[in-house]
Amino acid sequence: MPLPRHAAPDMHIDIPPPGEARTILPGLRWLRFPLPFAPHHVNVWLLDDGEGWTAIDAGVANDETRGNWQAALTGEAFGNRRLTGLLITHFHPDHAGLMGWLSAGHGVTPMMTRIEWLQARSLWFDTGEEMLEHQAEFARIAGAPEDYCTFLRQRGALYVRSVSLLPRAFTCIADGDVLRIGGREWRVITGQGHAPDMACLYCAEEKVLIAADQILPRISPYVGLHAGEPMADPLGAFLSSLGRYRDLPEDTLVLPSHGEPFRPLHGRLDALDAHHAERLAALEDACRAPATAHTLLPSLFRRPLDQGSLGFGIGETLAHLRRLEAMGRVERLPGADGVIVWRRK
Ligand SMILES: [Zn+2]
Repeated sequence: MPLPRHAAPDMHIDIPPPGEARTILPGLRWLRFPLPFAPHHVNVWLLDDGEGWTAIDAGVANDETRGNWQAALTGEAFGNRRLTGLLITHFHPDHAGLMGWLSAGHGVTPMMTRIEWLQARSLWFDTGEEMLEHQAEFARIAGAPEDYCTFLRQRGALYVRSVSLLPRAFTCIADGDVLRIGGREWRVITGQGHAPDMACLYCAEEKVLIAADQILPRISPYVGLHAGEPMADPLGAFLSSLGRYRDLPEDTLVLPSHGEPFRPLHGRLDALDAHHAERLAALEDACRAPATAHTLLPSLFRRPLDQGSLGFGIGETLAHLRRLEAMGRVERLPGADGVIVWRRK
């Protein structure tokens, strides 16, 4: 019988407390660590690789997560077996934060796509004033108020604060690679838009997708335009890469990095497509009167954003504006002092 679309998750596995694991399938375990920022937790998956466990993602670099790892490594989660492999889905701190710490402590070389690896390396070392000034200028031309630009200059570089010293070497994985981990084959399917080349893993035999942040059960992953690539189209990249997961079976069990395991896959893909189509329409409508990205924030966000989240809000609004611009539905107009104004075409 076909599974209903938009069905509620049919998995009833208790959420593991920090430092403990829950079994999803024989040889596949679920760890969950709290995060000091939204979405407030991250999932880590352990795959039995024969010798020990290969971990998918490392969590953010802070003492709490180190403590939770120690509890897992010495407790029932690892069951007297070692950490023998590490795969990092993408460069974000909640996933890559403790990659260097785990890698140095356990003698494992992390697997990562080349673009995610290089992105982590370049951000970790890019902490100077020029970088901060560039970010402040990116916010300014998006229409952000001067006090926010000053806040950005003074806040300093964030990435290095929640990512431990990176390893000096990695093992490259790429879209289409098949990794044999323990008795199972996992195919790498990369997704773009949330991160430049995020690795997801699919096991056809078990119909399980380790989806990283590409397909989350309740929220759309953050898709934002960044100062480093202002003419990119990350939302276009995200939506077209979502299409690549439609080839997987409807009853695929999705293991997301945030939230709980869920089925069915295709209902969630439909919901993500619909969500962005709705937001694009709302934003296009709001552009009837020429406006900056900052002025347009209320058309995408119901509540006002504080300084800590304003950058994400602007990035996400710009990603939608760039998508609309690429579709020929809005255009940018030269504003005063280089500030960009958007107008419906
Ligand atoms: Zn994440």
